[in-house]
Amino acid sequence: MRYISTRGQAPALNFEDVLLAGLASDGGLYVPENLPRFTVEEIASWAGLPYHELAFRVMRPFVAGSISDADFKQILQETYAGFAHSAIAPLKQLDANEWVLELFHGPTLAFKDFALQLLGRLLDHVLQKRNERVVIMGATSGDTGSAAIEGCKACDHVDIFIMHPHNRVSAVQRKQMTTIMGDNIHNIAIEGNFDDCQEMVKASFADQGFLKGTRLVAVNSINWARIMAQIVYYFHAALQLGGPARSIAFSVPTGNFGDIFAGYLARNMGLPISQLIVATNRNDILHRFMSGNRYDKDTLHPSLSPSMDIMVSSNFERLLFDLHGRNGLAVAELLDAFKTSGKLSVDDDRWCEARKLFDSLAVDDEATCATIAEVYKATGEVLDPHTAIGVRAARDCRRHLATPMVVLGTAHPVKFPDAVEKAGVQAPELPAHLADLHQREERCTVLANDLKAVQQFVSQHGNRGKPL
Ligand SMILES: *Cc1c(COP(=O)(O)O)cnc(C)c1O
Repeated sequence: MRYISTRGQAPALNFEDVLLAGLASDGGLYVPENLPRFTVEEIASWAGLPYHELAFRVMRPFVAGSISDADFKQILQETYAGFAHSAIAPLKQLDANEWVLELFHGPTLAFKDFALQLLGRLLDHVLQKRNERVVIMGATSGDTGSAAIEGCKACDHVDIFIMHPHNRVSAVQRKQMTTIMGDNIHNIAIEGNFDDCQEMVKASFADQGFLKGTRLVAVNSINWARIMAQIVYYFHAALQLGGPARSIAFSVPTGNFGDIFAGYLARNMGLPISQLIVATNRNDILHRFMSGNRYDKDTLHPSLSPSMDIMVSSNFERLLFDLHGRNGLAVAELLDAFKTSGKLSVDDDRWCEARKLFDSLAVDDEATCATIAEVYKATGEVLDPHTAIGVRAARDCRRHLATPMVVLGTAHPVKFPDAVEKAGVQAPELPAHLADLHQREERCTVLANDLKAVQQFVSQHGNRGKPL
């Protein structure tokens, strides 16, 4: 499989190079040159497969030529063996023909484990073959950091540095990062906010002299392997509910447009999906585009669903590429203009195409809490605020009552006790494998909001705690 850039100027790469590349050299994102397409008969033949075997069949074309079948099978088996539920992604029924796909049974209790548990293992496999070491730098406001650290903790060829804003992530989220011990794991608390952390990551990618030749790798959702891993559970859910013989609708809590973009790809690969709903919080740039063709940058509104608090959605560029007939120069032009003006809209016919593909809804904090309370009262199930936004959007935007509706359950409610308690519901207990989290020893370095200090720290510790 070859991958091309959404801006049309960077060289095409194979899977292995895309895994290590992050952004393309022209500033674009990598996408497959040709999407694999499965027939209905082929998809139907996968019914009843264990999750890792289904994952092998869905993702095999994407890694072909870079990773052997035998190696990929083994990597996938190991990736999902650590999940706390034997169904990996179980469906829980909430209402007539309405389900939550529980994607929070991985080690850090959020759906990001599906991709980052795989990404860490893929990286180590490829780096071992190349006899190379890399440094990962990432910024997190919560979920990504812990999932990335959990995914990389066993990697012999990776040192990972995760920055979070000092005193600005929840205690559970912080401890999920800082209690994972390993000489290749480095937590940095920055005396600043999330944007400061993210800016330092970007600046480090732009000027890598401090790394003395060691490659820097990205683990945010611009990394293609993360999107790829998320395609699988759309197939998994559909097969449980009578697909592909019948179509399924999905409602997806969305920030960076990563998870929902995976659903869009699943449909393009042949899975009958009748409806895809983009569910956002008050940070609703995607809803403003879908409902009014205005992808305009707004200020950030902190919400009860912090993992979707974004101003721009990085993966939206991948959809723009398809909407423009895969014309990279047209995409580059649009995004260059967006960079200066903060505004973007597309030609009417392209926007109508997007409207055909997606419905959308923005849900504020009040409606989020009301939905948590509503579902708890009706079923006794406690939803996390992100999942609650997905349920609200599913109920308000649903087109066909006879079509099964699946809401992606993106996090365990224990990660977001504030929202749950605001809804008047008692927050649940930590699951067994994390029950002693608050007693575990933490390791973290506090640094000033200063790029030089951070880069110096990385170069002093980037080789399993020793200097690069
Ligand atoms: C990251 C995250 C999201 C948003 O996912 P995107 O791929 O950015 O759309 C939603 N919910 C939770 C709990 C998350 O951690």
